Amino acid sequence: MFHCPDHRPRAAVLPALAVIAVAGGAALVTAALPGWLAPTPFHQDAADVAAPGLPPDDDIAAWLLDFGPSPAALPATAPGDAIALQPPPEDHAWQHFDLPPHLASTPRTHDVVVASGDTFIGVLVGLGVAPDDARAAVTALKDVFDPRRLRVGQALEVAVDPAQRRLERLVFAPSALQTLELARKDDAAFEVQVHTTELVLERALTHARVDRSVDHAARRAGAPAESVQQMLEVFRGHVDFRRQTQPGDELLLWYDRERLPDGAVMRGGDLHYARLDIGGRTLEAFRFEHDGRTEYFDRSGQSLRRFLLRQPVTGYRISSGFGMRRHPILGYMRMHNGIDFAAPTGTPIHAAGDGRLVRVGRNGGYGNYIRIDHGNGYQTAYAHLSRFARGISTGGRVRQGDLIGYVGSTGVSTGPHLHFEVIRNGRHVNPLTVAQPPATQLAGDALRRFQRHVAQIDAILKREQERTLVMQTTSTRLAARSDG
Ligand SMILES: [Zn+2]
Repeated sequence: MFHCPDHRPRAAVLPALAVIAVAGGAALVTAALPGWLAPTPFHQDAADVAAPGLPPDDDIAAWLLDFGPSPAALPATAPGDAIALQPPPEDHAWQHFDLPPHLASTPRTHDVVVASGDTFIGVLVGLGVAPDDARAAVTALKDVFDPRRLRVGQALEVAVDPAQRRLERLVFAPSALQTLELARKDDAAFEVQVHTTELVLERALTHARVDRSVDHAARRAGAPAESVQQMLEVFRGHVDFRRQTQPGDELLLWYDRERLPDGAVMRGGDLHYARLDIGGRTLEAFRFEHDGRTEYFDRSGQSLRRFLLRQPVTGYRISSGFGMRRHPILGYMRMHNGIDFAAPTGTPIHAAGDGRLVRVGRNGGYGNYIRIDHGNGYQTAYAHLSRFARGISTGGRVRQGDLIGYVGSTGVSTGPHLHFEVIRNGRHVNPLTVAQPPATQLAGDALRRFQRHVAQIDAILKREQERTLVMQTTSTRLAARSDG
């Protein structure tokens, strides 16, 4: 460290600034402001400048007055900003001096929040850590954390020995479940510890009265977003949530959730049961595994899944509906016996329902074409495909949602789209409005197994609701007592 003989020793109390002054030689120099030196906005006098994060120290103030910029000339600054410092007069010589005792060896702990553009090394150097030491620390961290994943807003706890310009400890939590602690082991090495929090998996019940909407009510009553989303999907096609709900309707969800040991819910898991009492009718959904597939059934054992999906491509709009229209290429009015989805070439196409592939190949104006027989007199067809999915060939079996091919523009077509048809008993019908049989009706052994499952859930929910009711009654009584 260095010292100006005309003044009291001071430079070494600001290791970062000392470096600045020396490194700049006789020229105007710039350097990164250490985090503790950059209150926002920069204060009006040098003592204030020095104060944040440091004990009051006349030396710091004096150093800044002698060699620092004029406080009035400083714009508002933030950690990491560069400031220009005037070099000392040419007749000043710099010498080593000892640190004031109160600053000599006590590690200083800084709480830092990562800002846009920050790097680990930049932050550490900004706090007075020597660049070599900062690099060694980041290297030690690399086994458990990729420094490029450092995100804006991340809180860091950094202990620095200002005298030695060494990092002593770095603690941060890259996620709610993980805390990393880097600590100095000896002069040359760091030790990294990973502290992991185990999530608690539990089953929870949410009962809500519908206010604005079903999902809003469920979220407000504490159900996790994932479970609410599952509920909406389960009942899709059975309820029009925007039209059919009204204030006073109720819902009950029973689901898995994962939470931190301190209670904060991290995410919802499987939805095991849902009940909606809306518009005077009750809908129930029981999660049940059958035939190698987990799906939701009503109390009678009928699947809530649609027999046929409405949209074999997800997220794309219908560009042409079912019915009479002017043909885009032939120019005259004719029947459009399916619906078109405008989607880019290569968009995955999914089987609308379980079934057998009765035709896979070229089919005239349809181009690459797939037809599936779903039983019950229902078939679906998919046209203009760019190609078929692996393993898809005539005679094979598919399940609802299986990938069967990709959108294209083969055959007579003006551009990439999926032409989708539903054929019932040999006649083309509107895929959006055709009545559908239930996807699955449980029978025999499966139905008996399902009925036992339903009885179990009924018993559990009854117990849970009684417990909740007792709690509610108790708190109501207590409230009444405190009122009186
Ligand atoms: Zn079409």
